[in-house]
Amino acid sequence: MERSLRGIPASPGIAVGIVHLLLWEVPDVPHHIIRDEEIPAELERLHRAIAGAKDRLRHVRDRVEASAGKEEAAIFDVQYSILEDRDLLAGVEELIRQNLAAEKAFDLEMLEWRQRFARHPNAMLRERVSDLTDVQIRVLAILLDLPDHDPVDLPKGSKAVLVTHDLTPGLTVQLDREAIVGIATDAGTRTSHVAILARSLGLPAVVGLRTATEQLKGHERVILDGTTGLIVINPSHDDIERYRVRAREDEIADAELQRLASLEARTTDGVHVTLRANVDLPEEADFAATTGVEGVGLMRTEFLVVGRATMPDEHEQYVAYRRVVEAFAGKPVVIRTFDVGGDKLPIGGFPTEPNPYLGWRAIRMCLDQPELFKQQLRALLRAANHGDVRILLPLIVTLSEVRAARALLNEARQELRDRGIPCKEFLPLGVMIETPAAAVAADTFVNDVSFFSIGTNDLVQYTLAVDRGNANLAQRFTALHPAVLRLIQRTVEVGEQAGLEVAVCGEMASQPLMSFALLGLGLRELSVHPRSVAQVKNVIRRVSARNAQEAVMRAVASKTAEESEAILTKEFRAAVGEAYFAREMPSPETTALGANEL
Ligand code: PEP
Ligand code: MG
Repeated sequence: MERSLRGIPASPGIAVGIVHLLLWEVPDVPHHIIRDEEIPAELERLHRAIAGAKDRLRHVRDRVEASAGKEEAAIFDVQYSILEDRDLLAGVEELIRQNLAAEKAFDLEMLEWRQRFARHPNAMLRERVSDLTDVQIRVLAILLDLPDHDPVDLPKGSKAVLVTHDLTPGLTVQLDREAIVGIATDAGTRTSHVAILARSLGLPAVVGLRTATEQLKGHERVILDGTTGLIVINPSHDDIERYRVRAREDEIADAELQRLASLEARTTDGVHVTLRANVDLPEEADFAATTGVEGVGLMRTEFLVVGRATMPDEHEQYVAYRRVVEAFAGKPVVIRTFDVGGDKLPIGGFPTEPNPYLGWRAIRMCLDQPELFKQQLRALLRAANHGDVRILLPLIVTLSEVRAARALLNEARQELRDRGIPCKEFLPLGVMIETPAAAVAADTFVNDVSFFSIGTNDLVQYTLAVDRGNANLAQRFTALHPAVLRLIQRTVEVGEQAGLEVAVCGEMASQPLMSFALLGLGLRELSVHPRSVAQVKNVIRRVSARNAQEAVMRAVASKTAEESEAILTKEFRAAVGEAYFAREMPSPETTALGANEL
């Protein structure tokens, strides 16, 4: 076995722990025919397995309710109710009576149910496919006597490094941070939502390892380095000691960076840059508010929905938004309406569309379900009574979407007033520029919106036709490609001419070299992960906007992504100085995938 595995650094930090291998896939079930006289015993075996799975679900449910809350735990009630379904049971029993072994009978019946649900015209029912899959895995594991991989039973303090193919919403809600110290996945890239969530949870993570679940058997001791994307297997004492020293050095460097919180983000030639925070979970707001940012540039609201059995109602949403607004005491808080779909799946779902990133996601889903959308808009309007809330619409490609959203916002306002709840007459409404269509036609929006926010994660994905979550394509996810730079440049120009604020809230803004490029493209507002604020501020304070502009203009005119990156790296290195560059910029050797994937 290799002594180390290399993946994509997704969430910084070092974890030393024991591998907990989680294989959460439907197992292969052998075709086994039973004799007539075996049928009663087989039926009995089925009922015992179902009872066992129900016991387990009750247990998981209680654990999740205690650690994450009632709403998060409700997903397991749905799964429990599937196991109580009389039709399902009758179908399996019938197949057993036709001489199929219990596991095969259960497997076939579940396959049929999954197909039926996947084709269902009702989207809510389509989303139940993932619950059916979870139930199928649970019951088959008992019938086939497979090892129990459920992460929920890890005792607190286990120092487990969770190794799995991909982190599904159902698994995410089970993560007990007192038991799990790091995450490693075969799938994913820096901009996939596993990575975003791991950063929000503050758990070191390496993604895009491709074969980690094959190479690791479970129970090995590992060092997981989320900063460089390396996993060291069965490390020596010397390895562990080296990493301990590194972890201490990182802590000291962090403390030093935190000192920057009170200093202004101003370039050496006097250009002020507004730094705001990306907040993915409401609980992050308190920490984000201590980092010296001037408000929230992107609050992602979909994590209120992901992995749950039901949508949060107006009140629950209002409480969550208000919490963030109050943590920022009057500073601007940009809240984005639900951007579910793609790899951020609502209500416990797996993608049920052949091409989810080009499918029914984000604003499309919201406009097609106006009652659900208005519920969110009412919650936002109510939260706006407590501070400076601005609303951001995701995945806009055409002006009619903005107008339809505004009409629903007006209706939502009227509905609140009819209930006697006062609300502001004007709330700034902005659009995400994250499709080539929106960037090229940015001018079409200027009379209808108050600001632009460039979502580079999706803009890169759609411009280069590279799936942001596909580890095999990570090297092709080149944000500095001249085509991407030109789209950003165009958006900034249109915004400037129209007097609109233009921000970048995608991952690009959080990366030192990229933030230098963005500064050069004329961006004066960046929204970054709270843990990246100090690092980006440090970059801004070391460089001149004029230098950055000269460098990026050459990159924009270059012919390839490699050429563009080389130009910017050279100029950035000269601007920040050799010592900074050596310390802060991961070397290509240590981030074989990560550096290119930025
Ligand atoms: C983006 O696409 O850059 C963005 C900020 O949104 P998300 O990552 O949530 O899609
Ligand atoms: Mg996006």
